Amino acid sequence: MTVFSQRRARLCRLLSQYKIDYLLVVNPINVRYLSGFTGDSTYLLISKSDAVLLSDGRYTTQLEAECPDLPTQIRDTAETLLSLICKLYGKLSKRFGFEADAVSVAIRDRLVDALKSGTLVPLEGVVERLRIIKDRTEIAAIRKSAAAANKGYNYIRNILQPAMTEADIRTELEYQMRKAGAETVSFPSIIAAGSNAAQPHARPSNRKIGGEQLLLIDWGAMYDGYASDLTRTIFLKKPSAKLLSLYKFVAEAQHAAICAIKPGKKCSDIDAVARKIITNAGYGKQFNHGLGHGIGLEIHEQPRFVGSSETVLEAGMVITVEPGIYIPDWGGIRIEDDILVTKTGCEILTADVKYEPEAFL
Ligand code: ZN
Ligand code: ZN
Repeated sequence: MTVFSQRRARLCRLLSQYKIDYLLVVNPINVRYLSGFTGDSTYLLISKSDAVLLSDGRYTTQLEAECPDLPTQIRDTAETLLSLICKLYGKLSKRFGFEADAVSVAIRDRLVDALKSGTLVPLEGVVERLRIIKDRTEIAAIRKSAAAANKGYNYIRNILQPAMTEADIRTELEYQMRKAGAETVSFPSIIAAGSNAAQPHARPSNRKIGGEQLLLIDWGAMYDGYASDLTRTIFLKKPSAKLLSLYKFVAEAQHAAICAIKPGKKCSDIDAVARKIITNAGYGKQFNHGLGHGIGLEIHEQPRFVGSSETVLEAGMVITVEPGIYIPDWGGIRIEDDILVTKTGCEILTADVKYEPEAFL
């Protein structure tokens, strides 16, 4: 059994809970998770007894290489995937589930036409229910992704110069991560010097870092399809008392939240642990986002450390913990690590990435 057939077997157990005969998977991330196929424009139709990939001629060779255990149906160039579905399944009076969160209204209407004899059942988050718990293969890929991110960061830490711009740092960091084995970045890197760091999602500009007191770097690598996501805040000169105390509050909040992570805890309770520390320090309003998010095949996925989340932590979840304080026209501080929930507590997958903020220019 491959890791993909194991995942499909787990999915099939869910299909009966949803009382459907077939699930049409169209989200390319979910197709990849269940089949290993890394291309796009390909659907997976899965039932208890079989699974088939529906694709086009561009992917014949890639499908054979990546999914040797799955049958494929390649549409003619004059056909669409939906007309192929109509030809193969249009006469079946079965219940077809589809990913309501990944299908446009236009495609849904065409599916209704294609599957005339069957019943269409909109479903949300079915494959995502499986993806929320990472298997061993996935955790290994996230570790490799974190290692590539670490190499890029170590390199950049050692070459910081006053004349470098945020954009220069971005370019070098991303190049070094690729050299370290990353296939790409997990999201556009955030490199924010001085007051630019007040925006949690600042974009790298041509601002030079010389003369600024802090530099915030939020970055991650993609390895074998899996994301890492980290943030470090660096002092570019001897820090002011304000910068030092804010950094301390953020670090304390992060440490306390990570210490609280274990199976059985509610996600909202972990968010509250960090938020309480920052609120008691007087900066509750300046911590203007959730504490963290799941990572995996996507940079933001379930579960979320937010006040509204009733999700209960389970071993195998991988989530970021990233408290921050942002002060307009002054700057911002965030520290972010990737945490694996284990049977007894948790493990910081990014613990090797240097925390020491002092890198005086
Ligand atoms: Zn991040
Ligand atoms: Zn993040």
